[in-house]
Amino acid sequence: MVYLKTDDEIELLRQANLLVGKTLAELAKVIQPGVTTKQLDRLADEFIRDHGAIPTFKGFPNPHGEPFPASICTSVNHQVVHGIPNDTPLQDGDIVSVDCGTKLDGFCGDSCYTFAVGEVSDEIRQLMRVTKEALYKGIEQAVAGHRIGDISNAVQSHCEQYGYGVVREFVGHGIGHDMHEDPQVPNFGRRGSGKMLKAGLCIAIEPMITMGTREIYMQEDHWGIITRDNKPACHYEHTIAVRKGKADILSSFDEIENILNNKQ
Ligand code: MG
Ligand code: MG
Repeated sequence: MVYLKTDDEIELLRQANLLVGKTLAELAKVIQPGVTTKQLDRLADEFIRDHGAIPTFKGFPNPHGEPFPASICTSVNHQVVHGIPNDTPLQDGDIVSVDCGTKLDGFCGDSCYTFAVGEVSDEIRQLMRVTKEALYKGIEQAVAGHRIGDISNAVQSHCEQYGYGVVREFVGHGIGHDMHEDPQVPNFGRRGSGKMLKAGLCIAIEPMITMGTREIYMQEDHWGIITRDNKPACHYEHTIAVRKGKADILSSFDEIENILNNKQ
């Protein structure tokens, strides 16, 4: 069931989402060759709890009923989503998508950012740029009176111009007291199709874009999702509230990008 949020509820969602942005900014400070994704996980877990929130991913069950063992998902290079943090050091030229969820005062935050580790190739830089552009093109469509398919189509058409793959099996979603609420927000679809967007609808928009084929499969750990051709994948996600005229972005990349700009 889709339920629309009041302005007070949207403010609580904003706080949970801003905390995700701050957590990702903490990680931005330390992401460099040699760091492990397990170290990132420990930092994120501590930061979220120190701010009075709970990392919602920890213990989240997969279809086998197995709990996710960490507080963030870290998907490296050809991993698309749901990578389990591990002890392998990140290397110069890698990319790592860090997906983070919090629950604060009963409301959920959910946002993801793909980070370059050291210097990445121009090809990968373009994949990152286009995926992020697609996210904002989707957000532009998330206004009252439009339809879900308008968001989906904006994301898909932007990425496919570059020959990139748009993952079908994982999609954006409604968000509120629960991390995953109705409706689903696919990254592919026809303009003018799907449910009408109403003011107060809160959704996570999250393009998952591959450099090559959009075909994916699940790793043996029952979590990590990787590209079939082993080419890199990229993932950015914002939580937004639908409003009249312009979407209200509740999560933020500002602190992350301030830190990344100062590192250069
Ligand atoms: Mg997420
Ligand atoms: Mg999400």
